[in-house]
Amino acid sequence: MRPIEQASYWLATRPHRDAVTLPGELCADIAIIGGGFTGLWTAVRLKELAPDARIILLEQAVLGYGGSGRNAGQVSGCLDHSHQKAIAHFGIEEARRMAAVGLQNLDDIGGFFRQHNRDCDYTRTGQLFVALTPAQVDDARENVAAATQIGITGARVLSAEETRAELNSPLYLGGAIDPTWGIVNPIKIVDHLRDIATEQGVQIYERTPVTALQATRSPVRVTTATGTVSADKVILATNAYSHHLAPRLLRRYIPLYDYVLVSEPLTPAQHAAIGWRNRQAVVDGRTFFNYYRLTADNRILWGTSEARYYPPNRVAENCDHSETHYTALRASFSRHFPQLADLKFPYAWGGPIASTTRLTPFFGTLAGGRIHYGLGYTGLGVANSHLAGQILAHQVLGKPSPLLDLAIVRHSPLPYPPEPIRSWAVNIITRSLRRVDAGNKPGLLLRTLDLLGIGFSS
Ligand SMILES: Cc1cc2nc3c(=O)[nH]c(=O)nc-3n(C[C@H](O)[C@H](O)[C@H](O)COP(=O)(O)OP(=O)(O)OC[C@H]3O[C@@H](n4cnc5c(N)ncnc54)[C@H](O)[C@@H]3O)c2cc1C
Repeated sequence: MRPIEQASYWLATRPHRDAVTLPGELCADIAIIGGGFTGLWTAVRLKELAPDARIILLEQAVLGYGGSGRNAGQVSGCLDHSHQKAIAHFGIEEARRMAAVGLQNLDDIGGFFRQHNRDCDYTRTGQLFVALTPAQVDDARENVAAATQIGITGARVLSAEETRAELNSPLYLGGAIDPTWGIVNPIKIVDHLRDIATEQGVQIYERTPVTALQATRSPVRVTTATGTVSADKVILATNAYSHHLAPRLLRRYIPLYDYVLVSEPLTPAQHAAIGWRNRQAVVDGRTFFNYYRLTADNRILWGTSEARYYPPNRVAENCDHSETHYTALRASFSRHFPQLADLKFPYAWGGPIASTTRLTPFFGTLAGGRIHYGLGYTGLGVANSHLAGQILAHQVLGKPSPLLDLAIVRHSPLPYPPEPIRSWAVNIITRSLRRVDAGNKPGLLLRTLDLLGIGFSS
């Protein structure tokens, strides 16, 4: 199996740089574990708030090795999976607030990279929601109504013809546009954040897996194979890997694997055959939806949210590929775009995400407030990790911020059951959701979970 550094289009096409490992015994005010978006944004925002703080960031592989170097790069202003879900999970007032915070977040990310003169191929293309069944045409209408209700302007419903004029698939029965979304090259975010953090004085060590955290007394001892860091505070920015260091966090999330393909670049004729002049981030209306986008060099990234759970909560290299998913992805692509049936997909990979029952991240502390965590983006972490970085930075420094007052920060999601019930529940819910995607009405189980505000998605 191809190693992830070659399999992920983003990781494979990034400029090479040598990794520096932790050289021995070091002290820090704050140690950050995990070099993805969350760890890097937290480091950068911490340095802005406390320029003199000694900050060390430790990454087990290379920066961006986790979800941050493997995602689809769709940039969402939604803190929950949709505005409808935000209203259902948090109520209308909080959903309004979440929408305002989410929109501001998208502007702030753009503003940050402009201010630092860095280009991440970040374009506010909008999102094209496509309906594949009559029920999803209704969903498109409801999505737009929910967005409008909570203050998003410019969202609109599209007819089948209007949808196909944007992107030409015979499967589309209608759709909707949310103008707020965007697309980005995720590894450029990682690499620019690395440069900016280093310039600020953050010490970054890669190929340095943390093997133990000892927090029985102060400072916390962070152990790795090549040295230790003694730190007053530690931040776990390890998302789907977090249970390797803090097993009790598993109560609040489930690690799942999403898989994607990336094609060869489209020729001008191939591009013309499908339209997509406005290059929107696309998702369809199924529970296990396809998500797709164009890269800057006009490749199609084609992904599925039909995520796989590897019991018991496995997050490891041998989950990085799934031929079953790749075959299903190639078949679904050909069904959507028969005019491109011969398109080749030289890149294929998977990556771990951390799902929560309310489909939003959660935050908290361990060891009497000396270890902080923020994780559980449930497949929407590209933009929301920037918010998490701000939240974690303020929390660790004990500084006030209106973000700390968000319900997603104040309350934890409902727990998932432990194994072996977890595997059983995943199987039974997956089967029920597949039946809904095949056109059936949700059964008693899904209706009950919905009433309780418990979702299952990647
Ligand atoms: C296939 C796929 C598609 C996705 N598409 C999208 C999308 O289009 N839009 C969107 O918003 N989100 C998407 N996501 C989700 C998004 O990528 C994640 O939510 C986000 O990257 C989480 O960032 P993070 O920094 O919290 O976690 P990660 O990027 O996973 O970073 C955690 C880091 O911690 C390191 N680590 C773990 N344990 C240790 C240890 N013991 N010692 C040292 N380091 C350690 C890991 O190596 C890793 O680099 C997708 C995810 C996947 C997998």
